[in-house]
Amino acid sequence: MRQAPGGSSDQFGLGDNGLVSAQSASPTSAETGRAVSGSQALFARALAVTPGGVNSPVRAFRAVGGTPRFMASGHGAYLTDVDGNEYVDLVGSWGPMILGHAHPAIVDAVQRAVGSGTSFGTPSEPEVLLGEEIVARTPVDSVRLVSSGTEATMSAIRLARGFTGRDLIVKFAGCYHGHADALLAAAGSGVATLGIPGTPGVPAAATASTLVLTYNDVEQVRRTFARYCDRIACLITEAAPGNMGVVPPRPGFNAALAQICRDHGALFVSDEVMTGFRVSRAGQWGLDGAIEGWVPDLMTFGKVMGGGFPAAAFGGRADVMARLAPAGPVYQAGTLSGNPIATTAGLTTLRLATPDVYAKLDLTADAVQRLVGKALEDAGVPHVIQGSGNLFSVFFVETDEPIDGRDRGIHDFDDAGRQALHRHRAFFHAMLGAGVYLPPSAFEAWFVSAAHDDDALGRIAAALPAAAAAAAAARPDGTIS
Ligand code: PMP
Repeated sequence: MRQAPGGSSDQFGLGDNGLVSAQSASPTSAETGRAVSGSQALFARALAVTPGGVNSPVRAFRAVGGTPRFMASGHGAYLTDVDGNEYVDLVGSWGPMILGHAHPAIVDAVQRAVGSGTSFGTPSEPEVLLGEEIVARTPVDSVRLVSSGTEATMSAIRLARGFTGRDLIVKFAGCYHGHADALLAAAGSGVATLGIPGTPGVPAAATASTLVLTYNDVEQVRRTFARYCDRIACLITEAAPGNMGVVPPRPGFNAALAQICRDHGALFVSDEVMTGFRVSRAGQWGLDGAIEGWVPDLMTFGKVMGGGFPAAAFGGRADVMARLAPAGPVYQAGTLSGNPIATTAGLTTLRLATPDVYAKLDLTADAVQRLVGKALEDAGVPHVIQGSGNLFSVFFVETDEPIDGRDRGIHDFDDAGRQALHRHRAFFHAMLGAGVYLPPSAFEAWFVSAAHDDDALGRIAAALPAAAAAAAAARPDGTIS
C-alpha cells in the first residue's frame, strides 16, 4: 500500500506544530508532483507572521493536507501560482469572480477610479449607482453598504432586534453567515471544514439567544415559533445554503419560512451573500420568491456585488430600514463603507452580468456537473451532485442508499456530514496536480464564471478520470488500495 494524500501530516512537510520545516521544502509537491517550492517558501514565511499562515482558515488546506498554493495572478478562468503552475479556477475567490479574473472592463473602471482618489469618507456617486442597481434587481426598498458579508449579517440581525424589540434569533445548522458571535453556532464553511464544534471566544451569552434548527425541516420551524412565539426577532437562512456544500431548499421551504415569520411578527432575513447576483440576476430570490410571490423582510449581499473588492450590503423593507441610523436609532457605521473603488468594481460587474452571462453560467455549471458525475460513476465512486442554479457541489457520500431514508440527496447538515472525506482529499489533490483548482474542503460550493470556455472545460474533462480513480482507491486511513 502506498500513502495517499491526506495521510500523516509529516508527508506534507508539516511538523507537529504545523510549521513547514526548512528541510521539508522540496521543489515538487508530494501529492501532485508539481513545482511547489515557491508556495512552500511563502507559506513558511506566512506561518511566522500569521496564525496558520493564512488570513482565512479554509485557505490553509488543513482539510486536504499539503501546501496551500500562493497565487500570483488570475486571468479569465485561470489562476497562476508563484511556481508558474496554471489552474482552471473553480473557486472564483469563493464567489465574487462571476466574470472571471481581471476582466478588462473592470480593471479599466477600477484604474480610472483609483486615479480619482481611493477613499473620501464622504458620500460619492458610485455608491448611489450601486445602491440603485441592487434595488432594481432585488425586492429590497433600500440598502446600506458595508465591507464584508459578516458585517452585513451582523448588522441585519441588530436591525431586526432593534425593529422588533425582541432578542431571539433562529438559524439553521450548517448555514454560515460570517463570523459574528451570535451566528457562530453550528456554522458551516470553515467551521465545518475544520470540525470546530463552536469556537472559544464567543461568550455563552452571545449564542444563548440563537436557536439552531435543522435545515429543510419546516415542521421543526413551526414548532419552534409556536413555542417561543413573540420572543423571536428574526429567522436568518442562507437563501440556498452553500456552506455545507450546496443544499438547496426543498420546494416551498423559503416561502414557508417567510410565512411563519410573518405569522409571528418576526423578520425573515435571507442571506444572499453567496447566491446574490450569482444564481440569477436577482439571486436565489429570483429563482423562488419572485415566482412564488413572497419577499424577505431583510436581505444580505456580498461577493459578486463587490466585483472582487470588499463590498457587501444589507437591505429590505422601507419601514425596517428606516430604523437604521441616521434615519433611526439602530446604530451601524463603517469608515470604508461604500468605498469608491469597491463600489465601482461592484457596479461594473453587475452591469456586465447580463441575462446572457447568467445563461452561460448555467450551461457551464451543467457541463461541469455532467463531466464530474460521469467520471465518478465510471470509477464507481459513490457521490451526490446537487445545486441551486449555477451553484453546485459534489458530495462524496459513502452509500448508494437513500441518505435520509426518503430520497437520495443531501438535505441538511447531518446528511452533509456523512461524506467520505478521504475521497474528497484524494480527488482534490489529483485535480490540483492536473491543473484544476477546486475548493480545498468538502463543505464548500464550486463556482464557475462566464470566462470558463471550452478550453477550460476540456482541461477539467482531461483531469477527471485519474482524479475519480484516485477517489475510488482512497481509504479512510489515508492509504490507497
Ligand atoms: N453569508 C454567507 C452566505 C457567506 O457565504 C459568507 C462567506 N462565505 C458570509 C455570509 C460572510 O461573508 P464575508 O466572508 O465577506 O464576511
